[in-house]
Order: sequence, then C-alpha cells, then structure tokens
Amino acid sequence: MKLFFRGAMLFAAAALCCGCGGARDAGRSWRYMDTGMGTVIEAVLYAPEDAASRFFDDSMALLGQLEREELSWRLETSEVFRINASAGSEEGCAISAEMASVLESCLELYGRSEGAFDVTLGALTRLWEIDSWAAGGGTGEFQPPSQEAISRAMRVCGSGQIRMETAQGETRVFLPEGMRLDLGAVGKGIAQSRLGRRLAEDAEITGAVISLGGSILTYGSKADHSPWRVGITDPFDPSAQVGTLSLEGQWCVSTSGDYERYVEAGGIRYHHILDPSTGRPAVGRVRGVTILTKDGLPGDGLSTACFLLGPEAGMALAAAYGAEALFLLSDGRIVLSEGMEAYFTRSPDRLPIPD
Ligand code: AMP
Ligand code: MG
Repeated sequence: MKLFFRGAMLFAAAALCCGCGGARDAGRSWRYMDTGMGTVIEAVLYAPEDAASRFFDDSMALLGQLEREELSWRLETSEVFRINASAGSEEGCAISAEMASVLESCLELYGRSEGAFDVTLGALTRLWEIDSWAAGGGTGEFQPPSQEAISRAMRVCGSGQIRMETAQGETRVFLPEGMRLDLGAVGKGIAQSRLGRRLAEDAEITGAVISLGGSILTYGSKADHSPWRVGITDPFDPSAQVGTLSLEGQWCVSTSGDYERYVEAGGIRYHHILDPSTGRPAVGRVRGVTILTKDGLPGDGLSTACFLLGPEAGMALAAAYGAEALFLLSDGRIVLSEGMEAYFTRSPDRLPIPD
C-alpha cells in the first residue's frame, strides 16, 4: 500500500508545506514522517502549521504509549506482557477496560472466522521468529521449526482456551500455562482507531491521511475537496500498484499480504500469517487482502482473517461486519465486494482477467 504524495518526502518529523492558500496556512498541508510501532509513520495534515506539528507530536507520543503500555509482548511495561506472564496462574490478570474491549473484539472475530483469526498464537509466532523477519522480505540463517516443536506450540494456542470474567467493574483474563497473546494482527488497527478519535477532537485539523506502515487512515478532506487516493500494492511486484482507492472522509484501510513480511530459506518463502490449523504459514489462493472500514480494529483483524479464509468465506465475513473487501489472488485475479467497486480503480495496465 502506498500513498500518493505531491512533493518530496521529508524524514524524521520535519514538516513541509505541500499546498498553498490565501489566509495564514489556509488550504495548506504538512507532511511528516517518523518511525513508531516498529514501522514507518507518515502523515499529511491539512491544518495551520502549529496545529499540524502539535498533532503529529501527540500522535507519535500516543503510538509510543500504546506500544509501551498496552500491546508489546516484549516490553515488561505493557499489559500484554503482564497478561502473558500471568498464564497458568489461578488469579489471572486484571486488565483495563480498553484491553477488555480489544480482547472481546478479537474473541468475537475468532468465533466468526471459525478459528482462522487467533490472537493466542504467540507461542507459534515466536517459534517462527516472525518479529525478526524484515518487512519486504529477507534471507539469512533462518531455519524453519521442526514439526515436533510446531505441534508442541500448537497445544498452547487457541482462543477457545481463554477465559474472561468481569466482577465489580473489573475484568480479569485467564490464560492457560504457556499461552502467549500476540496482538500483531490488530495493533495498527487499534492505533488507527485511537488516532481517529484524536483527530475528531481537534477542530484545527480539517483533513488528514496517516499511514502506519501501509495501514491507512483518512479523515476530513483536502483543501480542494478531491478524494484521498490510496494505492493497492501489487503482491507480484510490491513496487507497483494494481489500482487505487478514492476515498472521502474518514476511512481505515488495512491490508494483509504474504509479500509484506517474510523470510526465504532453502529456496522456500515463509510469510507471517499463520494457519492455526497447521501452525505454519497459510497456503491458499490469496496473496493479499485489503479491507475498508470506518473503524480500524475490526478492519485490521478482518484483513488477517480474510487472508486465511479466502475470497468466498472471507467476503461473507467482511459483509457480516459491514466492511468492503478486495482480494488479490495468486492467479492474478482481483475480487471485489460489491461496495468496493465504487472506490476502486484499476491501474490502466491491469485489465480484468476474463473468467
Ligand atoms: P497482519 O499483517 O495484520 O495480517 O497481521 C499479521 C501478524 O499477526 C503476524 O505478524 C503475527 O504476529 C500475527 N498472526 C499471524 N497469524 C495470525 C492469525 N492466524 N491470527 C491472528 N494473528 C496472526
Ligand atoms: Mg491485520
């Protein structure tokens, strides 16, 4: 996924005026770029410069806090770390209302995807060392785990084994011994939801497009009211795009693809989306899925779930959530939900493949 920028890129949270206007800063946009949540964060903001700069600083702080205090499985300061450390204990772990709501959404998606989407795969994702694989692919000394190790890890996976109890306003979560949460499939979506809330509170930002490592949040409008344009990466050539989405107002665009994060070893490519039924990178007809939703958390979860389910079951699941979906298949076909057709324009060199 790529944003179409006018003008040159700027790095490390420096701002560039990308538009022009009459009154002070009116109609101008400001571009920022930085790293956060282990990925590149880019933002184009339509606002007076001081408001844009403040918003971007606040956003980076918010993302840092989200990682540090809630989502990271590595940092001892995070809620996920504490939940994982409590696995097997009788008292479980008290969690915040935000975390309870995230886990409830994840458990619901687990059920509705018939177990394809599962945030309890931490033992497997660590076994496969997914966090060490480079975005955009890498090679190295990677050795795929043995079947025995995979089978062992699979025994401590499965959202059906989680228990949540709420009493006197406090929610506790109980994980069986050895289970590890991995919220990697929804982290960017949660961030999109939080940034969307923050944007709605800031009257000075009239338009914004924010990319979190390819997950895109759009908001408001540009000065000239032309739509936001979001490119859809071609899985066969990630430097190219199969088409663009034209969006107005607030949307969350989430993509899951086998070309996003992977490692090659012994001539085999291993990607980062695991099939819970095999404990291995999913094998199927899908190379990428893009989901369009109003809110980020379901959208991010759905892109992962739909990648695993394939176009038929995936389309039905997306529809059940009121989401639009675009599937890029391994034979080069592009399959769109009916509603997605209104937003998607194919690149001129990507004519539909006849049936
Ligand atoms: P995404 O790129 O949003 O599709 O999320 C992929 C990430 O979610 C991986 O890097 C893993 O951390 C985690 N993950 C892998 N397989 C699954 C799965 N079947 N269900 C939920 N999370 C998964
Ligand atoms: Mg996802």
